[in-house]
Amino acid sequence: MKLSALDSGEPCLKHNCALCCHETKMYLTWLDINRIVKLGYSLRSFAERSEGIWRLKNIGGRCFFLEGSKCKIYKFRPYGCRLYPLVYDQEMKRAKLDNLCPHKEEFIVQGDDLRRLIFVLKILSMGNVFKKSSYIL
Ligand code: SF4
Repeated sequence: MKLSALDSGEPCLKHNCALCCHETKMYLTWLDINRIVKLGYSLRSFAERSEGIWRLKNIGGRCFFLEGSKCKIYKFRPYGCRLYPLVYDQEMKRAKLDNLCPHKEEFIVQGDDLRRLIFVLKILSMGNVFKKSSYIL
């Protein structure tokens, strides 16, 4: 089986899958929020705060940005979406490929992916603090 880089999206396209964009709980770092707000979206149109962090909002059970089976902001999507199905398991205290992805065996995790995940976790552990004034609310 050909393995694909996490951010290639190849298995997703091959299987026409957008499962992880349904009932998403994807976290947003302040870098993600800044990037998306700059596209012209207001923060509260695409995000909501739960469990102390900003997450992508679902509309009718689907990610706000999901259009058909495509992401409307694919080039600008959050870091968590670029890394998925690589996630950090809080209980096991290690990175793993998420069992919820039906095609996780088709992805390959490379050194850079783990570094990127650690970077994102560091930003989130800073409390997702951001200057509200830099957002269009
Ligand atoms: S669930 Fe897995 S295969 Fe499906 S869209 Fe998400 S990452 Fe891609």
